[in-house]
Amino acid sequence: MRLGIDLDGVVADFNSGWTAIHRAEFGSEILPEQVLTWDGLAELAGFDSMREFWAWASPKDDRPSIFRHLDPYPGAIESLHRLRRTGHDIVIVTTKPRWAVADTFRWLADHGVPTTEVHITDDKHLVDCDVYLDDSPFKLEDYLRHRADRAICRFVRPWNDPLDGVVDVHDWDDFVEVVATVTSATPSGPEALAPSTPRQ
Ligand SMILES: [Mg+2]
Repeated sequence: MRLGIDLDGVVADFNSGWTAIHRAEFGSEILPEQVLTWDGLAELAGFDSMREFWAWASPKDDRPSIFRHLDPYPGAIESLHRLRRTGHDIVIVTTKPRWAVADTFRWLADHGVPTTEVHITDDKHLVDCDVYLDDSPFKLEDYLRHRADRAICRFVRPWNDPLDGVVDVHDWDDFVEVVATVTSATPSGPEALAPSTPRQ
């Protein structure tokens, strides 16, 4: 199957990355655990707007963009390799500012992400996949609107909420299990998967 995988908040720990740079550059004490909302970054970081946040996050003379040196989440890269070995195609589907495109490709190469297909786009739903994994409340709604017949997975984070028709995924082992369930549901397809499966 084609697995449409988001990067930030799913594979790459964006919040740990930018807060570390923020602490180093401003002497702040912001921790990634303090990021609880999707649009709260600017206020938390002391900027007037997200535009200002992104201006700060972009490449500078003395450092690359904040997307360059993010750590992967535990188990993320290993799980992608596991899924690839099982025969699935890893399709990276990520939204990025233009200035972050080169750093995104460098990051994928640095971490040996097993993909041959990368889409850097705001219109993620146009990328045809069997399973989608994302943490953005807005992209999950887009997938539901345009790709309701596919398996749509929410990587559970403080900044997103459950949605009818979306499967909750709490960690990478969980996602590997969901993919196995969708695979075994074939030929009836991803829609055979019960959405919002509760899990302790
Ligand atoms: Mg994301």
